[in-house]
Amino acid sequence: MNIILLGAPGAGKGTQAKLIVEKYGIPQISTGDMLREAVEKGTELGKKAKVYMERGELVPDDIVIGIVKERLSEDDCKRGYILDGFPRTIKQAEALDEILLSMSSKIDAVINISVSEEEIIRRIVFRRVCRRCGAVYNLIYNPPKQGDICDRCGGELYQRDDDKEEVVRERLKAYKEQTQPLKDYYSKKGILYNIDGAKKIDEIFEDIQKILENLKD
Ligand code: AMP
Repeated sequence: MNIILLGAPGAGKGTQAKLIVEKYGIPQISTGDMLREAVEKGTELGKKAKVYMERGELVPDDIVIGIVKERLSEDDCKRGYILDGFPRTIKQAEALDEILLSMSSKIDAVINISVSEEEIIRRIVFRRVCRRCGAVYNLIYNPPKQGDICDRCGGELYQRDDDKEEVVRERLKAYKEQTQPLKDYYSKKGILYNIDGAKKIDEIFEDIQKILENLKD
């Protein structure tokens, strides 16, 4: 099962990806997580990406395409994967098609999670992430049990620099201009499924499971 999760920042892609990982045992490939790790480690890739990420802009296509290509060739992707936050531009989608063609593989479903802009801002500004295990919380909708400590692993929760409101507005602009056209791209291929992201986390997950169960037939 090869799946793409599409949606604005804050739509719930990461949260749903983690639920899919748990239930179906396929890896989550989050370009955002991979880039943040590279920035944290201070690698060459991280140094290049940091400048764009801080401004809420997209990292150049060639950089992101390169890291996804490498990741998809790893063994754990053989049984399927969830792409979370990739592709984000038409150029990335076309490059992905080429990569998959060369591997005699394809995407089975693109799940588009839609949420209104006001809701997105509210979600992102209150979002907190665990430094240790990457679990995602929202101080209003899905708060941790104890202050800024992760329920799962006891790690420290923090706010991503790019989750500050001014940067979020830039990220939404990038989403509208560069990522939204992907809905059409995948709709034309007949593999786009739209999901209402305003529902509760478990309700959204149920909707996603219905789509994925049908794919198995
Ligand atoms: P995310 O965690 O998916 O919201 O990504 C955080 C940031 O990483 C984005 O605002 C971009 O700067 C960068 N990024 C992540 N995925 C991509 C991608 N597919 N193409 C370009 N930039 C990306």
